[in-house]
Amino acid sequence: MGYSRPVEMAKPDLARYIRDVPDFPVRGILFRDITPLLRDATALRWSVELMSEPWRDRQVELVAAMEARGFMFGAAMAVRLGAGFVPLRKEGKLPWRTRSVKYSLEYREDVLYMHEDAVAPGQRVLVTDDVIATGGTAAAVVQLIEQVGGTVVGVQFLVELAELEGRRLLPGREVRSVLRL
Ligand code: AMP
Repeated sequence: MGYSRPVEMAKPDLARYIRDVPDFPVRGILFRDITPLLRDATALRWSVELMSEPWRDRQVELVAAMEARGFMFGAAMAVRLGAGFVPLRKEGKLPWRTRSVKYSLEYREDVLYMHEDAVAPGQRVLVTDDVIATGGTAAAVVQLIEQVGGTVVGVQFLVELAELEGRRLLPGREVRSVLRL
């Protein structure tokens, strides 16, 4: 079965499916709400498609994503790319032995966890998330994967908040986004 685009559905203007919510979750943050995109079958399918397509010939073995919104795209991309999926989670969620890294977000500090056997040394991993803001989350995921010997193929986002220059925390990485807002 070859890799082909969902040509039967015209590509929608995906930016129209991102809802801006001011002052959420705290004052001063303009939150990019992806739920209108998630509930639209065509927009969702095209989003997964456009996030997967650049990596189709890149021997991606695993897609790694942070809960919770990263999971929505990451698992779908893994299926599309014929890869496995690795969940990165918040404290107290993973049952097996973990590795962790502390990182700072646009509006708080946090720790993320990964099972220590989630990525075998040398495995090729694509990192993904719905939105890149400061880049702290993605940089932490990259750090964890490399700590256990994984090879980060690249980093893919649906939405890049370009003004925040989050890419600067991912120097030398192949970083792609479908929408720059
Ligand atoms: P960062 O680590 O700053 O790049 O933040 C990225 C993570 O926080 C992603 O998992 C996003 O889902 C979430 N996030 C941060 N800022 C926003 C925002 N303005 N709108 C929507 N999600 C955001």
